[in-house]
Amino acid sequence: MQATVFISHGSPMQAVEPGAAGAAWRRIAAELPRPDAILAVSAHWTTPEPALSLAASPATIHDFGGFPPELYRLCYPAPGAPELAETTAGLLAAAGIPVGLAPDRGLDHGAWVPLRHMYPAADIPVTQLSVQPQRDAAWHLRLGAALAPLRARNVLVLATGSLTHNLRDFRFDGFAEDRGLDYVQAFQAWMHDALQQRDDAALAAWQETAPDARRAHPTPEHLLPLFVARGAAGAHAKVQRRFAGFSGSALAMDCYVFD
Ligand code: ZN
Repeated sequence: MQATVFISHGSPMQAVEPGAAGAAWRRIAAELPRPDAILAVSAHWTTPEPALSLAASPATIHDFGGFPPELYRLCYPAPGAPELAETTAGLLAAAGIPVGLAPDRGLDHGAWVPLRHMYPAADIPVTQLSVQPQRDAAWHLRLGAALAPLRARNVLVLATGSLTHNLRDFRFDGFAEDRGLDYVQAFQAWMHDALQQRDDAALAAWQETAPDARRAHPTPEHLLPLFVARGAAGAHAKVQRRFAGFSGSALAMDCYVFD
């Protein structure tokens, strides 16, 4: 049975400066069973209803601005997984969840930055599923639950976002991996407790109950993939935090494996 994973992907610079978080991504990939295919659920693809990519050879999307030229030359040439997209569309439809198919959507940096470090050979087929920022955590837990049968098919549900994501608080004066702002640490601790306790009711109400939720996520899209990974793992899955660090003091870089 394949696990599900949540990666905090950090800044696009993680592509070339992976640091301790990147080392943790590599360890996670090395310890998982090698998947037959990957369904990447990225914060950087947002649509009103869930969408899946049918691309046979997904392009590498450089969906960021103002970074060094070397980042725009990077390419992650993994094959697409149109069959997985069709299978997943069927699972969502069976769960009563509307779904669209995107013929040629490529891989955004939320997907390819972690994949570049986890599976550098780029030889595992991958497709993407979008998130719906105008819908809540309960929706994304349900979206995840519909994906649960993929675990038995050796598909890795790779959810990629950020445990906290307020870029206005990002500190460029130091690449602080060991120190988060106080509210970042408080939010991180709350979320860890809720996940450890498998408290889906608390998770579903995070915007009302987690400390400084609004400051940690001025917009929710970077947290929503976490709920998809949690939902896809099933109610009784073991919860393992495999990394807890920071980037620019504002981004909690936590990674979870649900198994
Ligand atoms: Zn991001």
